Amino acid sequence: MAEKLEEYNNSNVSQLLFEKKRIETLINNMSDPVLGLDEDKKVIFINQEALKILNMNEGECINNFISNLSLKNDLFKLLADSIDIEETIIEPKKQPIKIFANNKESYFEKEVLHISILPTGEEETRIVGHVIILRNVTEYKEVDFAKTNFIATISHELKTPIASIKMSLQLLNNNRIGNLNEDQTQLLASIKDDANRLLKITGELLNITQIESGNIQLSIMPVDPDELINYAINAIKTQADNKEIRFEINRPEVISMIHADNEKTAWVITNLLSNAVRYSHENSVVYITLKEENEQVLISVRDSGMGIAPEYKDKIFNRYFRVPGTRKEGSGLGLSISKEFIEAQGGEISIESEIGNGSIFTVKLNVV
Ligand code: ADP
Repeated sequence: MAEKLEEYNNSNVSQLLFEKKRIETLINNMSDPVLGLDEDKKVIFINQEALKILNMNEGECINNFISNLSLKNDLFKLLADSIDIEETIIEPKKQPIKIFANNKESYFEKEVLHISILPTGEEETRIVGHVIILRNVTEYKEVDFAKTNFIATISHELKTPIASIKMSLQLLNNNRIGNLNEDQTQLLASIKDDANRLLKITGELLNITQIESGNIQLSIMPVDPDELINYAINAIKTQADNKEIRFEINRPEVISMIHADNEKTAWVITNLLSNAVRYSHENSVVYITLKEENEQVLISVRDSGMGIAPEYKDKIFNRYFRVPGTRKEGSGLGLSISKEFIEAQGGEISIESEIGNGSIFTVKLNVV
């Protein structure tokens, strides 16, 4: 009997050991770095890929608290910080982590799984450990980088010939070069429209490449909100005149200066006015309102155009998104660039709209 029990015991232990070995081999052969912690945040397993990028050996890590390891290794510190988020779900995706290992730069997307179980007889789940997986996204990042570079170069190269087309158009319009008949003048006007549209798109693409490469260069200084609005109205004047749209400004007697990047904020306000004009009916009014509230200046642009349905309100700030059925030409980039520019300055951009009743876009920026 004792002999049989011993045999049974041994077979169970050896089966468990075999299973353990199998899981260890599996984790070790994964091409992505993986490490596991127990409920006290002590390292219980770590694979070769993780050791490689951490530049440590297994003995130094196993059974050691992640808080201790963080003191000697910056990458461990970055991983430790992500576990402290008291969540039992997968952490939302963030910017990839850049790591310099094996003489090259690599990018990893971090995923933290908080493992919980429901112990037998109990009603509440309990966290029993955490698994950190670093997904190597270097290859995608490199392709993305090449694409961003390509777009930046092309849009930059296109700017010069488009500017020269615009200059030639101006010369052709000059009576000293010769008089044009009505048909020719109309043709010239439509070439001018197309050239302006091309210039707008190349400008937007250049902005987006700046954002994608994380290169938004801000030059923050005290800016007069009135000047921003005057600049934007001037830039859109011809477009508004063509549709017989006028601007009406409502402002308090005094308004504070704001902390902003002049050029980028002027770009945003111009883009909002341009949208208000493009998506409004002819012969209407676009209202621009300035307000000051809680140490912030609010600049609102209200049109009486077609409005935006509730299901699209969140999406219109996404890159390349255009409300289905939008007939006007456009790239779907203007609002996403505006959001990035305003948020980079610590501000906010929002929309209120009712279908058929126009839209109000509001930019909030901090006062000086
Ligand atoms: P674009 O206008 O170049 O397409 P935007 O990013 O500026 O790009 O706008 C995204 C989409 O949001 C537009 O295609 C349009 O469908 C919608 N939109 C933007 N502004 C307005 C507005 N004032 N009224 C109605 N729809 C708008």
